[in-house]
Amino acid sequence: MKEEASGSRSSQVLVTRSSMPPFEEYSEMIRKLWESHWLTNMGELHQQLEHALKAYLGTPELTLFINGHMALESVLRALKLSGEVITTPFSFASTTHAIVQNGLTPVFADIRPEDYTIDPEKIEVLITEKTSAILPVHVYGNICKVKEIQAIADRHGLKVIYDAAHAFGEWLNGESVASFGDASMFSFHATKVFHTIEGGAVAYQDHTLEHALNGLKNFGIMDEETVELVGGNGKMNEFQAAMGLCNLRHIKEEIAKREKLYRRYQENLSGHPGIRLCSEQPGLIRSYSYMPVAFDGSYKTRDQVAAELQAQHIHPRKYFYPCINAYQCYRDRFSPEATPVAQKISMEILTLPLYADLSLEAVDRICRIILQP
Ligand SMILES: *Cc1c(COP(=O)(O)O)cnc(C)c1O
Repeated sequence: MKEEASGSRSSQVLVTRSSMPPFEEYSEMIRKLWESHWLTNMGELHQQLEHALKAYLGTPELTLFINGHMALESVLRALKLSGEVITTPFSFASTTHAIVQNGLTPVFADIRPEDYTIDPEKIEVLITEKTSAILPVHVYGNICKVKEIQAIADRHGLKVIYDAAHAFGEWLNGESVASFGDASMFSFHATKVFHTIEGGAVAYQDHTLEHALNGLKNFGIMDEETVELVGGNGKMNEFQAAMGLCNLRHIKEEIAKREKLYRRYQENLSGHPGIRLCSEQPGLIRSYSYMPVAFDGSYKTRDQVAAELQAQHIHPRKYFYPCINAYQCYRDRFSPEATPVAQKISMEILTLPLYADLSLEAVDRICRIILQP
């Protein structure tokens, strides 16, 4: 995509583009599979990746899955939750679907206008005797109010599971994002900062969860003659693990490139009335997974900006729009009016293109279109 760097009008700029390791690195890594014929079921590369990710994420325990969604569904199951789970409507479909697929009831708390994470002040009033857990999301890599959330959970004896799909490898004041709550889910989907094509993991502190997580991802089969749990099939295969091991070698450069682009967007767009960027979080080491920008309509509306960019073959995303509590499949049960901040942000938010090999020129061009009256 050389044309893209030069800003040719005919080229397309998508919101994201999967990063690829050098082809030879990947082919070298998978060559062994032609010798071993061991393609899935916790093979050697799977073990290596689990080990490497524990080190990278700074977590004592980590279990890989075929994708982030199965990881989330499985950890909710492994924690033996019941009744209601308090969560945010401002996320990807997976977060709430994982609750519902477990036969649990999602209860939506509104979000903070500063960083779009769940508002701790809106949580406590929603707690009933049926509540068993809180499932917040570190949306766009903005870390939730983890201390306040944990204090509420401790007061009421609730589990906390973070959807950390946007926060791979982040650290807040010297603490790994993987260390918050009872467990955190990471997604390694092709569009994420770190990917295994499709993939995901649960990071956690309590070693005893490992048994259930390993069982749940393999039909509950514990050994040749023991099927202990009603599980599904959530195993990561060796080709995915190989992609992960290769991508992990380059993750630092990947994030550094994204940071440059993110800062350029900030320089170009900050201080303009009607254009709002996420507030900085002191002490946070980011992985720059997304570039969200909110347009409140006083300058241009979100839909106007999206249309202007699209006319120039640039494809941002209205991510997250609609809110989960406005989905067709949940229409009979929930209403977005119950979470007015999330509803408003979902109308204002646009995520701009951000991926490692996007050029600074492309960022400047995108910003020129946005800033052009
Ligand atoms: C990507 C994502 C997921 C789901 O992960 P998959 O690996 O695609 O299954 C869940 N929650 C959020 C917030 C995500 O962005």
